[in-house]
Amino acid sequence: MEMRTQEELHGIVIIGGGISGLATALGLHKKGMKSVVLERSETLRNTGAAIAFFHNGWHAFDHLGVGDQLRAKSTLITEMHTKWVHKDGTGDVIPIGEEGLRCVKRSDIVDALADSLPSESIRFGCRIVAVETDPVTSFHAVHLEDGSVMRTKVLIGCDGSNSVVAKTLGLKPPNLFRTQVAQAVTSYPNGHGLSNHFLYLWGDKLLLGRVPIDEKTVYWFVVQEVNPKDFESKEDSRVVRDLTVEALKDCPAEVVEMVKRCRFPYIESDIMLHGTWHSVISVKGQ
Ligand SMILES: Cc1cc2nc3c(=O)[nH]c(=O)nc-3n(C[C@H](O)[C@H](O)[C@H](O)COP(=O)(O)OP(=O)(O)OC[C@H]3O[C@@H](n4cnc5c(N)ncnc54)[C@H](O)[C@@H]3O)c2cc1C
Repeated sequence: MEMRTQEELHGIVIIGGGISGLATALGLHKKGMKSVVLERSETLRNTGAAIAFFHNGWHAFDHLGVGDQLRAKSTLITEMHTKWVHKDGTGDVIPIGEEGLRCVKRSDIVDALADSLPSESIRFGCRIVAVETDPVTSFHAVHLEDGSVMRTKVLIGCDGSNSVVAKTLGLKPPNLFRTQVAQAVTSYPNGHGLSNHFLYLWGDKLLLGRVPIDEKTVYWFVVQEVNPKDFESKEDSRVVRDLTVEALKDCPAEVVEMVKRCRFPYIESDIMLHGTWHSVISVKGQ
């Protein structure tokens, strides 16, 4: 990694180039305000599966100028179907209004936001290790892993659940949910043939969610209690798929088939969320 010897001075620094950091930078850019995003990874982290957004999320995308291009890649979902595996598949149909929700591949969101930013806005390979505030000037000193320091008038923390900025602000640590989520996108080259609904299927100690992204792709997730054994081989997509199929043994054949034919399922565990009043987005300075 290149050493940056001189201290840089910025108006606005955003830590973290995930969806929040990129969206914040784009929002500022739309208002004519320059910012720099510092991301610890060497490239955009556009992996993952997909995310479903209700209309408030789409209003935000519209304000950022990426709503139409993302809408074109997603199907409008107007109903939730909840079913219980052990009650012979009975359940409820819940309309979710005209505006409904839409699910988008995470890579499409990250790419749309990043492509709308000026090229020099994102700096990769910049892991922040500490942040401190000068009591006299109120400028924030951002310390990078390579030993360099950046000073900024405004610091915005978008660095996810283990946020360095949140720690500096003294926010409560995130809540830990002892669950694991296997998720992926499954493609159907000839179309999946599903209606526009979000399925919630409750099984024995698991929840399966399935939502069409477009006519040929479906996003799904399976939430279960953490099983440490599953994490011994969580890097191996094949093992993740086999374990998920096994967990779904009592579920309808169509959902088991959906999991069997996906390509890159992955497992996340111990989901960490900040409480409502301790958002991971923290604005310091002004
Ligand atoms: C790779 C990945 C895949 C995901 N896939 C899905 C999915 O398929 N479905 C779903 O619902 N949710 C997914 N999520 C979670 C989802 O993106 C987040 O819940 C949500 O979008 C919040 O985004 P965020 O920008 O606040 O945080 P994050 O997406 O966690 O982004 C935080 C960013 O900050 C960077 N960062 C953290 N610490 C530092 C530091 N000290 N210095 C510099 N940079 C730092 C991280 O590298 C990361 O890019 C995924 C997250 C990631 C990171």
